[in-house]
Amino acid sequence: MAEQLVESVPSGGAHETDVIIIGAGPVGLFAVFELGLLGIKAHVIDILDKPGGQCAELYPEKPILDIPAIKTISGEQLTKQLVEQIDPFGAIFHLNEMAVSLEKTNADKWRIKTDLDTAIEAPVICVAAGGGSFQPKKPPIPGVDDYEGQSVYYAVRRREMFRNKNIVIAGGGDSALDWTLNLEPIAEKITLVHRREEFRGAPDTVEKMRALQSVGKIDVHVAQIKGLRGEGGQIQAVCVESKSEGDYELPCDNLLAFYGLTMKLGPIADFGLNFTENRIAVDTEKFETSVPGIFCIGDMAHYPGKLKLILSGFHEAALMSHGAFHYVFPDKKLKFQHTTSSRDLQAKVSG
Ligand SMILES: Cc1cc2nc3c(=O)[nH]c(=O)nc-3n(C[C@H](O)[C@H](O)[C@H](O)COP(=O)(O)OP(=O)(O)OC[C@H]3O[C@@H](n4cnc5c(N)ncnc54)[C@H](O)[C@@H]3O)c2cc1C
Repeated sequence: MAEQLVESVPSGGAHETDVIIIGAGPVGLFAVFELGLLGIKAHVIDILDKPGGQCAELYPEKPILDIPAIKTISGEQLTKQLVEQIDPFGAIFHLNEMAVSLEKTNADKWRIKTDLDTAIEAPVICVAAGGGSFQPKKPPIPGVDDYEGQSVYYAVRRREMFRNKNIVIAGGGDSALDWTLNLEPIAEKITLVHRREEFRGAPDTVEKMRALQSVGKIDVHVAQIKGLRGEGGQIQAVCVESKSEGDYELPCDNLLAFYGLTMKLGPIADFGLNFTENRIAVDTEKFETSVPGIFCIGDMAHYPGKLKLILSGFHEAALMSHGAFHYVFPDKKLKFQHTTSSRDLQAKVSG
């Protein structure tokens, strides 16, 4: 089971903070640190169920060789170390939630709403949305549209929805395996369907899944999903085809299909910001967009000479934080300090 790196607050409700960061990729995470040094609090939203963005989702085990002063580090380890580094600043995470709308409040602040009805207000928005939001790939199953969001899902947004349910989980990667392990204790029945005998997930997770199978706590079928049977949006069975067994049905209440993720610009496209080549145009002094109080850093930012590198995003986070300071503390003067010599910064970092 993948290690839980940060606690996410329950969805819904209203929150207030200094800066709302959209995106918990490496750059959004480091922004928490740079803002924290200046005494600025942050909430972080990500549609993924974990922090790390591309590093965590696309190349967790690959070595990154161009993080200054670190000879080699995997995407997963970099994420872990960033999370440890920002821990003293107590950022609030809203994972598994998509930032869907942006509006100005009567108090001249910004309000972001998520698809799970969370509302957050702040004087500053920092878009660190990378290549866009990670969204599930739709499985190529005929008629799947009729059941989507009613009994067929591509992500688990609320685990409790699946209590006492007979669930078919489709896929051979980490998400399918993680949710098999995670839902097994509360589901009535779990059947894992994958088209091959071998699973792509982390060896430890595969081992745990096989252990559940060997004691009969889950069923595993090597088969391909060919169709669905059901009525009025409620699935009754998944129709599969197997090389050894032929065609048959697996009765169920829900299908959870994990066929990988793709990155899409998503709702940010409608936030009223200036886009150039699908990225947000910013100045290079503060990394502010054309809209005062809205900043953009990391892969989503566009300016002459931009390099889509983690180290560029870290630099942008530092300058964005200095720009954000003047909105959060309009009456305060910002004093530039080094962490080596400032007792104030040292106290902030030690929590
Ligand atoms: C295979 C590969 C190898 C790479 N190797 C290197 C390397 O060696 N060195 C290097 O420096 N860089 C490397 N990169 C590039 C590096 O990963 C990116 O530059 C970096 O991830 C950008 O960080 P970010 O925080 O800006 O965005 P991302 O990592 O893309 O994170 C953005 C996050 O924002 C979330 N998001 C977006 N929109 C929304 C929304 N509306 N609501 C909620 N969440 C949202 C996304 O789900 C995502 O988690 C590599 C990239 C790939 C694909």
